Amino acid sequence: MKFLPIFLDPSAGPILLVGAGDLVRARLRLLLAAGAHVRWHATDGDFAVPGLDAAAASRIERGEVDPRTVDLSGIVAVFCASAGEIGEHVAARARSAGVPVNVMDDPAHSSFIVPAIVDRGDVVAAIGTGGASPVVARRVRERIEAALPARIGDLAAMIGRWRRSIHDHIPDLPLRRRFWERVIDGPIGEAILAGRSDEAEGSLKAIVDPSIYAGASVPGEIEGRVTLVGAGPGDPDLLTIKALRALQDADIVFYDELVTPEILDRARRDAVRVPVGRRIGKPGIGQDAINRLLIDAAKSGQRAVRLKGGDPFIFGRGGEEVEALREAGVACSVIPGITAGLGAAAEFEVPLTYRREALRITFLTAHKAHDASNVDWSALTDRKMTVVVYMGITAAAAIRSGLLEAGRSPETPVGVFARATRPDAKSVIGILDHLPALVRDVEGGPAILVIGDVVSHSAPWRNASQNSSLQTFQMAAE
Ligand code: SAH
Repeated sequence: MKFLPIFLDPSAGPILLVGAGDLVRARLRLLLAAGAHVRWHATDGDFAVPGLDAAAASRIERGEVDPRTVDLSGIVAVFCASAGEIGEHVAARARSAGVPVNVMDDPAHSSFIVPAIVDRGDVVAAIGTGGASPVVARRVRERIEAALPARIGDLAAMIGRWRRSIHDHIPDLPLRRRFWERVIDGPIGEAILAGRSDEAEGSLKAIVDPSIYAGASVPGEIEGRVTLVGAGPGDPDLLTIKALRALQDADIVFYDELVTPEILDRARRDAVRVPVGRRIGKPGIGQDAINRLLIDAAKSGQRAVRLKGGDPFIFGRGGEEVEALREAGVACSVIPGITAGLGAAAEFEVPLTYRREALRITFLTAHKAHDASNVDWSALTDRKMTVVVYMGITAAAAIRSGLLEAGRSPETPVGVFARATRPDAKSVIGILDHLPALVRDVEGGPAILVIGDVVSHSAPWRNASQNSSLQTFQMAAE
């Protein structure tokens, strides 16, 4: 973030505008629309602004003196058309007087920049690109325009009118937040957005006990809950819409070592974030302690999210957590995520059930050589079965010998896909016989192994066979 977005109160004092031309007039209209009082130095002496209503026009004060000598006391912000000789002078004076200054299209001379704006009355979205690209900002604005209901500003205005009184009724912040969520997401919000403001206002007035309306079983007391959320394999854009909503609603987030910082960034800004996973070289706090934390958080009335890499129910210990919560009488629910095997398959174009070549998929975990010895490899010898191995890096040699001894062909194509869907993703492909060498080559995890004929359809395999590097690599691995 290069610039910190803040919203300026236009009644705080006059704004100085220096310059002439259409862009300056557009800026003037924006300032007037926000209710500002503008001291305008039209450098060409032309103060005409067609189409302004009388009330807006009355808030323009003509600056007749040279703008370079203008008195800056009491001015809350300065806008200049361009640096030029006058602009540079005004900008330098504003800076030394500590007054925020913007020179149009010139971040170097500006102490603030003007964002692209979506204006819905009390709801205003400001979009910035740090001055890098107004076109990108415009595209983002189009998306927000499309997503925001037209009357969202009315909703905010109504809440603004009731805020004080609800604050007095519900002093507890989490409960109050929940009250407003119920208002916004329920029939009252719906009525406002549909233009039925009187009905909404009436329903709000009719609420007898706001804390009960917020979901408290006893007035003032709230029930917490835990949501197990699948974070997907790493790319934050692979979160589901439900996962995003849960993250935005969470008071506290307990997350795994597999969850990337970019995903954690999507949680509500003031949510408490608690790492509970293993760290490199450190064992983690253990499953019982995690269960305890989840139960305690819910019992203290918080909405907790347990954020897990991939999907919570694929080698994620989600089952144990749900059972512990159930036993403790804590409400919980599960939001699925894209499991690493599917993320990797999509990224590297491995058609896991390619017609006629693979009729089945097995998701397998073999963390240590010891786990590998517990696997019944004879169940995995069917050539038409794709085997996806989680946590298989350390046990690669045992996986190779298990499958070979059970009779799977040493020539079976294998893909090792590391850090799938992350910026530093890497794939190494080869044959089952060379598995331990392939695994070494991805240079660290997390990595998934995909074993089966379908790997020969993957993008890295096709690329390798096109430039025949596959053969060379296989020889090198021998
Ligand atoms: N619940 C998770 C799996 C947890 S087990 C899921 O559904 O994906 C941890 C294993 O997942 C890692 O050892 C690795 O095999 C795999 N994994 C997780 N993220 C991965 C990624 N981005 N790329 C490749 N493998 C990944």
